[in-house]
Amino acid sequence: MSGRVYLVGAGPGDPGLLTVRARELLAQADVVLADRLVPPGVLDGLRAEVVDVGKIGGGEQVPQEETNRLLVEHARAGRTVVRLKGGDPFVFGRGGEEAQVLRRAGIPFEVVPGVTAGVGAAAYAGIPVTHRGLAPAVAFVTGHEDPGKPGAQLDWDALAAFPGTLVFYMGVRALPRIAARLTAAGRPGSEPAAVVERGTLGDQRVVVSTLGRIADAAAKAGLRPPSITVVGPVAALARELAWLGEARPLSGLTVAVTRARAQASALAGRLRALGATVVEAPAIAIEPLPVEVPDLRGYDLLCVTSPNGAARLLEEVRDARALAGPAIAAIGPGTARALREGGIVADVVPERAVAEALVDALRDMPVTRALIARAAEARDGLPDALRARGASVDVLALYRTVAAPLDDAARSAVDRADYVTFTSASAVRNALEAGATLRGPRLVSIGPVTSAMLREHGLEPHVEASEHTPDGLVDALVADAAR
Ligand code: SAH
Repeated sequence: MSGRVYLVGAGPGDPGLLTVRARELLAQADVVLADRLVPPGVLDGLRAEVVDVGKIGGGEQVPQEETNRLLVEHARAGRTVVRLKGGDPFVFGRGGEEAQVLRRAGIPFEVVPGVTAGVGAAAYAGIPVTHRGLAPAVAFVTGHEDPGKPGAQLDWDALAAFPGTLVFYMGVRALPRIAARLTAAGRPGSEPAAVVERGTLGDQRVVVSTLGRIADAAAKAGLRPPSITVVGPVAALARELAWLGEARPLSGLTVAVTRARAQASALAGRLRALGATVVEAPAIAIEPLPVEVPDLRGYDLLCVTSPNGAARLLEEVRDARALAGPAIAAIGPGTARALREGGIVADVVPERAVAEALVDALRDMPVTRALIARAAEARDGLPDALRARGASVDVLALYRTVAAPLDDAARSAVDRADYVTFTSASAVRNALEAGATLRGPRLVSIGPVTSAMLREHGLEPHVEASEHTPDGLVDALVADAAR
């Protein structure tokens, strides 16, 4: 039986603009055939095989016939195929042609619309494409940048006379021609025009001018693809309604995340929502260790010292009743949250996620026998302190963090970033082992232990979170960026 093909729009760039339906389908897909203009992070962690059939102005591209062939071949093999395109699949995305190919081949398909760049990028620039009194209609326009190439021949007279906003999905190279043709056909050179480069992405740029001057203004700003051009009175509203800068304190900044892949996405997502361009450089990976969880009835205290430790412990303890005996201490709010996800409410949670704070929080609790669930390579501060108080202490090493090699591109992206974030000491060690120099960017540390590791390597953290959680780290980074 043939599989089904989903022609899915991924939106213009901000991963938050992916639809719920698109996300569901991506999670279920066997194969994803993706364009290059697909939002960052959207393809991470999928079970599907991802094939890049990217097309980008001028660059290498998989020919359309090959993409069509792959769609049919994968579907005929019974696979669930997501054909993921930037923006909306039926707006200048050749989605209609692909649907025709599928129909002819007798392959069932569905279409999932997306936010098209002409609307999404404009909105993120503060431009409503229609506006009462200013623009009762909007036209989406594309054409070949090279007049010598065959393709859509535009009727410039009709476009110039169009009673509403014109949105061009054409590169900046075409701008001088667009402006010259429109003005020659009678559109006033004084009419507002705007170009939005990389709309809705963390590094979006907007140039607002007039039709007569927009080509020069865009060239001066060095705007590049992908970009859209808006022509019409609404373009001037960008000056009044620009909102992205205020809402996105990290816009224009590149932030590298060195966490293990599995945990990076939440942190990366928060940073992106604040406007940052995120470089994922997972210099560490979590390796579960085989363990036998002892009978916990013999302990009066169980300490869990990291969110990974909590997750691993919950994985190993198949019957939650086994945890009913001892008091449970989490090293900080992040670990407490991870325990709560498994239905366990910690009895003791210091605000600062460091061993010293935990020892302090346990001050008034009588402890005879404690079990510490943690990473193999964790520091011995906590067991030592409890032993010093007369307790007998066992350590349960549930996992270890191992260095994950970074490829050349990731390594140099880290060194070129504005900020590099470290959520653990091992991430510091491994990023350095992976060859990052960490000399250029501002270094953001989650807490004193991570900072100490940086200093051990002759690096001074520029920012240290006062709450030692990923959220605390983000807050500290935002405060630093606002300086
Ligand atoms: N199907 C897509 C359009 C594909 S054509 C959609 O609905 O948005 C590719 C063109 O879209 C680019 O040349 C550029 O003009 C525009 N585009 C795509 N993403 C963009 C973005 N983030 N910002 C500005 N323009 C974008």
